[in-house]
Amino acid sequence: MSVILSSKAQLEQSLNPYWKRGATIGFVPTMGALHAGHCSLMHAAKAANEVVVLSIFVNPRQFNDSADFDKYPRTLTEDIKCAETEGVDFIYLPSYDELFSGQSVASEVQLNGLDLSMEGASRPGHFRGVVEVVYALFEHVNPSNAYFGQKDFQQLAIIRAMVSSLKLPVSIVSCPTLREIDGLAMSSRNLRLSQSERQEALVLYKALSFVKKHWKNRPSMEVLDQAKQLIAASTLRLDYLLLVDPDSLLPIANNAQSAVVCVAAYCGEVRLIDNMLLLAD
Ligand code: AMP
Repeated sequence: MSVILSSKAQLEQSLNPYWKRGATIGFVPTMGALHAGHCSLMHAAKAANEVVVLSIFVNPRQFNDSADFDKYPRTLTEDIKCAETEGVDFIYLPSYDELFSGQSVASEVQLNGLDLSMEGASRPGHFRGVVEVVYALFEHVNPSNAYFGQKDFQQLAIIRAMVSSLKLPVSIVSCPTLREIDGLAMSSRNLRLSQSERQEALVLYKALSFVKKHWKNRPSMEVLDQAKQLIAASTLRLDYLLLVDPDSLLPIANNAQSAVVCVAAYCGEVRLIDNMLLLAD
């Protein structure tokens, strides 16, 4: 059985024995509405740590659109079952006030421009909210290892930059994107798609796969343009489709180096993101 902790005091009481004896603590921060992608993070944490903590908190500070926050799926009963199946020891359900009562460090963190493009450009304040909440959660949990999905590639780069900038004593472990059988990246937001939108959303995977297949042999811009046309022919509204450097996240225009192709688009009202890593020879 997973133990549910709904206050910082309960968390401290439960983790104190582990902190004292220097046990490895694996931590998986989430916003809930758990799916197999989240399970893969819990699984990785379970395999490498003595104790696993999962947090579920829908963080209002990282939503630039309050309607999006209100409509974010919340499935706590199923989430608890899912965490128990994965053998999670503690499920932390922090309150807003306890997370954000301390001094914010977000402005001190050197993100080296990683937050300026893509999601950062389209969702002002989003990454500041992410940094604030992950920092606060790290302070509460004191994890040895924290698990994040490559599905949120830019977020992962920003968390790594935060850890390095603040010299936090935690290792960041990145886990591959889990996909539905037809290729759609698993996401809590997929729950908000109608049946027809769910079908249409597959174009993102098709566009990324198209870029991955052709980028080495043809001019990158031409390949990106054709992938954009695939999306333009669907009902999705493209926000961006970019080829960027996996470390700096700056746009690149050649295929001599490894890259990541990132996409964001609206499927009906639902904003979806996905990416694929493209490895140079
Ligand atoms: P979220 O609940 O959306 O904030 O996601 C919590 C964590 O799960 C983040 O580190 C995400 O990158 C990760 N995650 C979300 N979707 C997937 C997926 N399809 N595959 C692997 N990890 C994922």
